[in-house]
Amino acid sequence: MSLSQNRRAVLRDMHYDIFRLAQINQPRSPIMSLPATVIPLPQPVLLPVEGSAEAFPVRRVYCVGRNYADHAIEMGHDPNREPPFFFQKNADNLFSGRDFPYPPLSNDVHFEVECVLALKAGGADIPSEKALDCIYGYGVGIDFTRRDLQAEAKKLGRPWELAKAFEHSAPVSPLVPASRLGHPVNGRVWLDVNGVRKQDGDLNQMIWKVPEIIAELSKLFVLAPGDIIMTGTPAGVAAINKGDSISCGVDGIATLSLNVV
Ligand code: MN
Repeated sequence: MSLSQNRRAVLRDMHYDIFRLAQINQPRSPIMSLPATVIPLPQPVLLPVEGSAEAFPVRRVYCVGRNYADHAIEMGHDPNREPPFFFQKNADNLFSGRDFPYPPLSNDVHFEVECVLALKAGGADIPSEKALDCIYGYGVGIDFTRRDLQAEAKKLGRPWELAKAFEHSAPVSPLVPASRLGHPVNGRVWLDVNGVRKQDGDLNQMIWKVPEIIAELSKLFVLAPGDIIMTGTPAGVAAINKGDSISCGVDGIATLSLNVV
């Protein structure tokens, strides 16, 4: 059974479980006390965990912008004058399939390979010394971006959702638990298109390191179990075309392969 088939099966089973429990309506857990719903319950977003039958349930997706100096420079910014910053995608933009559907209303869709964090704990104002304790695991993902819509949003001073938070915009690998992996601070962050290396950075080039990302984000939002953080991309971002095959990874963590369809 492929990962996407497995994920669909997990989603279907979980959906039925919630539905059945809601019907029984026994107040033994918060799920059991759900009222009947006027439309079908939205499906939960679940990511596979490497080597486990249990899935990781997703709550929110945060992204770090311009967290690698050479990418900030290639986008026309001075990393010494502007610190990294945050934006969000939607939980249901994450996906674990093999085929990335080229999105509508853009002719300039870029890849951005990124190390992905998955949180098992959260809170507000988390000190950086405690931040690693919040991490369930790591993966690799791509922050696909409709660059032409982003350029227009920047020019007009508008938000970035149209450029960043579209369907299938955040493919991710299965997550690898930190209990198995530790907390890597070095590791090549790379992406190939049709066998040609396009992005080649290292985790140690992040401007905000992982503990600092969690500390900074938790000043702005109350983090919680299920939150995903995409930690920014190194230089080399470029446009994709239908028919491309993309491979990427963070050495020591995970790899991911996709076809653009
Ligand atoms: Mn990005």
